[in-house]
Amino acid sequence: MLKGKNAIVTGSTSGIGMGIAYKLAEAGCNVLINGFGDKAAIDAELADIAKKYGVKDAYSNADMSKPEQIAAMVKQCEETFGSCDILVNNAGIQFTANVEDFPQEKWDAIIAINLSSAFHAMKAALPGMKKNNFGRIINIASAHGLVASKQKSAYVASKHGILGLTKVTALETADFDITANAICPGWVLTPLVQKQIDDRAKAQGCDPQKAKDEMLGEKQPKKRFNTPEDIGAMAVFLCGPHSAAMTGEIISMDGGWTAQ
Ligand code: NAD
Repeated sequence: MLKGKNAIVTGSTSGIGMGIAYKLAEAGCNVLINGFGDKAAIDAELADIAKKYGVKDAYSNADMSKPEQIAAMVKQCEETFGSCDILVNNAGIQFTANVEDFPQEKWDAIIAINLSSAFHAMKAALPGMKKNNFGRIINIASAHGLVASKQKSAYVASKHGILGLTKVTALETADFDITANAICPGWVLTPLVQKQIDDRAKAQGCDPQKAKDEMLGEKQPKKRFNTPEDIGAMAVFLCGPHSAAMTGEIISMDGGWTAQ
């Protein structure tokens, strides 16, 4: 379905981003992987995607808190594959503390990586997308783009912000075959969430399974996790022909979290 298209997925050496990169590649898309991690693991991911799906792939180690590295990543995609048709802004980090205890450097890092990086990447990619009159932008927000939780001031602010940024981009690109949409996952069991489960188990002195069940039960009536592949399948749909008229949409995949 996406044969010949070229995509960047930020933060795709782990979790949701990796699931999205695999699903785009499965649909025939060439993918530029980004994120931190062990070199051998990243090389293995690149080799596996190329072998499984017969697409071209590449890697950028751009740090999403550095605007000039983000612009270089977009240029790398355009020079390596010929264009950047699909941009998935997914890289994200988390830190929890009450507002009065929240370290300023953690606030700055979360806003930079979860929110500003999407602005810098879109700013770099949109001229090429407009020139080719094709682009699909997907911003990975969160249920925390729509509702809040305690101790997540920077994360919730960044995710609310990225929804606004998505809507503005959708309006500004409406005269082109370009769409900008956001996906708002609830809990997805990735290293980012595993850390929160482990912290919770430690704080309560309970076993991780109990902490996991409680965490799910508190927020998600469905009491099951979405998987990175589920989010990836939605991303593929948002890049395909049946979503060409969908733009500025906020798509929840949260097991009923925000239905309450
Ligand atoms: P993860 O920790 O498994 O993966 C994060 C990825 O981002 C990794 O590849 C990491 O290397 C990369 N990354 C982190 N800082 C970076 C930086 N400065 N520059 C470049 N790459 C960087 O996390 P995840 O759970 O897969 O989260 C991915 C996205 O999904 C995030 O935006 C997160 O907020 C969002 N999200 C996650 C959940 C969930 O339950 N896991 C729910 C809603 C939204």
